[in-house]
Amino acid sequence: MNPNPVSEAVKRVLTLIPSLAAAGLLAALLAGCAKNPATGGTTFTGGLSQADEIQMGRQNHPKIIKEFGGEYGTPELKRYVDGIGQLLAKTSERSDLQFKFTVLNSDIINAFATPGGYVYITRGLMALADNEAQLAGVLAHEIGHITALHHARRHGQSLLANIGLAAVGILAGRQAAQVGQLGAVSLLQSFSRDNEYEADGLGVRYLSRAGFDPAAMAGFLAKLRADTRLTALRRGESPDTVDQFNYLATHPAPAARVKRATALARQTNVRNPMTAKDIYLSKLDGLLYGGDPAEGFIRGQDFLHPKLRFAFSVPTGFHLMNSSKAVLAFGPNKSRIIFDRASKPADGSMEYYLSRIWGGKMRLRDLETIRVNGLDAATATTQIRTSNGTFDARLTAYRIDTQTIYRMIFLTTGADTKGLATGLRRTTYSFRTLSPAEASRLRPLVLRIITARRGDTVESLARRLPYSDYKVERFEVLNGISRKDRLRPGQKLKLVVTAN
Ligand SMILES: [Zn+2]
Repeated sequence: MNPNPVSEAVKRVLTLIPSLAAAGLLAALLAGCAKNPATGGTTFTGGLSQADEIQMGRQNHPKIIKEFGGEYGTPELKRYVDGIGQLLAKTSERSDLQFKFTVLNSDIINAFATPGGYVYITRGLMALADNEAQLAGVLAHEIGHITALHHARRHGQSLLANIGLAAVGILAGRQAAQVGQLGAVSLLQSFSRDNEYEADGLGVRYLSRAGFDPAAMAGFLAKLRADTRLTALRRGESPDTVDQFNYLATHPAPAARVKRATALARQTNVRNPMTAKDIYLSKLDGLLYGGDPAEGFIRGQDFLHPKLRFAFSVPTGFHLMNSSKAVLAFGPNKSRIIFDRASKPADGSMEYYLSRIWGGKMRLRDLETIRVNGLDAATATTQIRTSNGTFDARLTAYRIDTQTIYRMIFLTTGADTKGLATGLRRTTYSFRTLSPAEASRLRPLVLRIITARRGDTVESLARRLPYSDYKVERFEVLNGISRKDRLRPGQKLKLVVTAN
């Protein structure tokens, strides 16, 4: 959550499903085809010229940077990523296009491209990749979407204009599950399965032309799958669902994608393929990991915002997620907690705010004024109809000062409304402000690159992670290794530590 008040977050959460459906229906039927530079075939472009493409990419660039927490990295890191991207782009069929590679300050693992040669990766993705070749694989996949004109083919110009942001993600399935709810960007992250496979194939092609290990594409996809499985595990879901999960029936299942990318890599022949592991890891030392202090941290069941100086806790079984607009927590059976800041300051009591402004158009019940850790607050219940069904809702508003009101919504259905009531009540009363001293003690997490010594094991090093659960699993996924693997003395590994 960033310090700017935003009002749209909740609405977006509630309207996700119809929006996604509309995105498909909106696909423009403008005339216009072009020879596809990457595939050689004829591609429906919706009349999108290269100049249009470049303009679209350029227009969206600042919006995307804003949506994803700004650009990330030292000039050295930016040059490093751009250098790898440019090397790959030069091997592509659209080497005349001026590509631009940007690292975004987001811990969500994502990569996407917009028309005109704009490619984005997050610092979260960089932290997951194990070597330069894997990072190159992701960049090459995104270049593939651009060279094969997928944006044009899929959407047509008017759809892109409609949605405003023409971003498309490598991780669409995961995005829908985890963050798709959070913003306009995610609506666009839906290429067809064929497009994804084609981009994987082109990615392998550019990797091998640039001298990288072509198996790194499959290598990164496998890491992605492992990370998604761990997330499912941490949420109390079966990790096997990640391979069944079928995003609008268009996105390839992770396991199938890994298999195909592996087969493609076997068909290529690169002499002395480059992996560049140690160089890559040296660039990651000190990389911000997880939440940015300016946006707030998730620590287990707690959400802490050192900059805005507040904190609250969610019940066990809820999985917190942060975005620039709101904090979400996903609980059992579609139950949700949505936390945000009122978009406009309002005078009067919190009861007045809740009944007349925020809940002005809802039929509220059980409206009451409460005190929460010294703050004025009001709470009420109602029912909210969404595309996902009808929910029992509890709304709570907290006044910090004349300019600032925070809001919490619990959405539950059926028996959960009663079953979760005690835990959610605790959450209502857990909201509190942080003193400047408390806030200044909250340190972000960073990656440290460590060197294994004789006697170190995956399990012994995993113990040093600053988490209370799944330490070994997290260490395995972070480093792309298994607890059965023997560590070599001198081997470089990633560790997450609290910044000092
Ligand atoms: Zn893709």
